[in-house]
Amino acid sequence: MRIGIFGGTFNPPHKGHLQAATVAIEALGLDKLYVVPTGVPPHKSLEPDTPSGTARYQMAALLFADVPQMQMLDIELTRQGPSYTIDTVLAIQKLHPAAELFLLSGTDMFLSLEHWHRAGELLNIVTPVVFARADGQGQAIADFAGHLQERYSVTPIQIDHEILEISSTALREMLALRAGRAWLADSVYAEIIARGYYNAKPDFEWLREQAHAMLSHKRIPHVQRTEEEAVRLAQRWDVEESAAREAAILHDITKSLDIQAQLQLCEKYDILADSATRENVKLLHAKTGAAIAKVEFGAAQAVYDAICYHTTGRQGMTTLEKIIYLADYIEPGRDFPEVHALRELAYTDLDKAMLYGLELSLKELAQKGRIPHPDTVEAVRWLKTETE
Ligand code: ATP
Repeated sequence: MRIGIFGGTFNPPHKGHLQAATVAIEALGLDKLYVVPTGVPPHKSLEPDTPSGTARYQMAALLFADVPQMQMLDIELTRQGPSYTIDTVLAIQKLHPAAELFLLSGTDMFLSLEHWHRAGELLNIVTPVVFARADGQGQAIADFAGHLQERYSVTPIQIDHEILEISSTALREMLALRAGRAWLADSVYAEIIARGYYNAKPDFEWLREQAHAMLSHKRIPHVQRTEEEAVRLAQRWDVEESAAREAAILHDITKSLDIQAQLQLCEKYDILADSATRENVKLLHAKTGAAIAKVEFGAAQAVYDAICYHTTGRQGMTTLEKIIYLADYIEPGRDFPEVHALRELAYTDLDKAMLYGLELSLKELAQKGRIPHPDTVEAVRWLKTETE
């Protein structure tokens, strides 16, 4: 049996890891590849808000999910103290006494091999396998391989693969800037966004894809126009444009669901909707949409609130909440007699526009003989005193 061992911090795991490991499996004819996330890496210091070992393990499992030879191994997470590869290798050797063991690493780790804990013993058991991480590393690899051969009588193998010049460090920086998605498996990216690892913010193109996939076909243009309107309003009223964009993209994500599905989401996300809301899909979609925005797409509290109150409004609304409420109301596709006046107000006096919009809603509800939600009534009362 030929077994590969691929350890790493995987913070986060990326396509560079996957690409190199996949080529190595093929080139070496491996029967099994153990992917071993480190708990406390001896060679690196982790930042305080680093995802836990279990979280990095789960992300690595997602990245390698389609590799049939892959087997995740969590022994370095359960061991106390620094994660020494020699301990892992000895444990694997115990499981597979007759197997040939290959230790996979990139150039940086390979060149430091001699400094690893009990390096001599380690090199006695495994064959090092190295993949370059950047062009021009071939000579350094060959020189060091020669040195290991001479000193430890081991013959390292260099894998010839298409180099992907990416590191987890670079990715962590990109993710906070809504970039880096192309270097990650889709499932890993979704996990990072949902959990808010690395202070990651969703790439807008990805967010639109996710949101539009949840919408009925005819609603998509409305959501696109709401996003554009929200950005214009954010610029006008000096609100963070990206927050307005995010809230607008996500504001209607559950709109196409019926009352039954809405109530199931309330159950799933522990939404305590009042009785007036529970009977009304139009009101429920704001609550369930906000919950999904937060749990699945990592929305911040301000974005959550803007989605949550985009139908009813509420007393003490923030500027972002007002912007999403109004963008939804006045986007260029809307056509009703008062829309021109409302559009004008939205760019000249935000509170007066809110009051006008909410009062129009109250009038419409009264005509239909329906009782308004208390949040709307309170919002109107509050805005009346604000605009006096
Ligand atoms: P960091 O930037 O945090 O140091 P990293 O990108 O080097 O992280 P690790 O989890 O430390 O990722 O790497 C695990 C193993 O994968 C190491 O042996 C490393 O050399 C190798 N490796 C990492 N990135 C690549 C890549 N792009 N191509 C080939 N090998 C890589």
